[in-house]
Amino acid sequence: MIVTIDDNSGFCFGVTTAIETAERELQKGQLFCLGDIVHNGQEVERLDKLGLETIDYDDLRTLHNVRVLLRAHGEPPSTYRIAQQNGIEIIDASCPVVLKLQKRIRETYQALHGKSTGAQIVIFGKKGHAEVIGLEGQTNNTAIVIEGIHDLDKLDFTRSIYLFSQTTKSVEEFQQIVDKIKAMRRIGDEARGEDIVFEYHDTICRNVANRVKKLQDFAKSNNVVIFVGGKKSSNAKVLFQNCLEVNPCTVFVSSTADITPEILQQCHAVEKVGVCGATSTPKWLMEEVRKYIVESV
Ligand code: SF4
Repeated sequence: MIVTIDDNSGFCFGVTTAIETAERELQKGQLFCLGDIVHNGQEVERLDKLGLETIDYDDLRTLHNVRVLLRAHGEPPSTYRIAQQNGIEIIDASCPVVLKLQKRIRETYQALHGKSTGAQIVIFGKKGHAEVIGLEGQTNNTAIVIEGIHDLDKLDFTRSIYLFSQTTKSVEEFQQIVDKIKAMRRIGDEARGEDIVFEYHDTICRNVANRVKKLQDFAKSNNVVIFVGGKKSSNAKVLFQNCLEVNPCTVFVSSTADITPEILQQCHAVEKVGVCGATSTPKWLMEEVRKYIVESV
């Protein structure tokens, strides 16, 4: 039995930079992080041991004159306002790709604001996800969040639509939404004026989107796949499903504690076992899983 780790799995550059920033800033003194720095319990625990204290929005409002790190997901303008009011120094580790998307949405909102056209800014993303909260904040929380095609009934197709996407969504699903909106708008053609537009911006991060094919190739080339991911990570759920589609012998684990005797038996019976993970899965954790399997089988 050979156990290999997928070279393309693991932190994206946005998360890597945020973690490196945390490690560097921790050396200068006390540091808080607004929300889990990454959707992976083991990595949060490792940084917690180095002194990084995770806080929520309620904590932020009560803190004064401290340093707070903003993670890669980005934040709405209200976070920066609270920090300024409370004399909090922001260590901004928001991913530049997310900041660029925030800027595009903000500029669209500002351009439309005050015009009584009823134009709709639409975000394809997961309601309540930190990145989406940051994006909604750019529109003073007026954007409409859709989680998939099933949410399209929230839109008025006779008015302008400006569609953006959360950076970690699926390119295929985004395209399906675009096609469906185009089709729905055709139905109401006569009722619509010339100035009613449909603009769509594929703002999906290619750092993540390009991983799917490589990950599926890796999953296909192994008999059993152990997918390592955090239970809170939406990216982990999506990528796990992508592996499962091409290799039904794929199992999801968060750490070695989830590796059951049945999984080990499955590994024992085959030639090639592959270990892979999400953009929030640390390499050291995949290495730990690999070592555990090698030593236990
Ligand atoms: S997935 Fe892309 S946009 Fe999101 S943090 Fe990583 S690099 Fe940045």
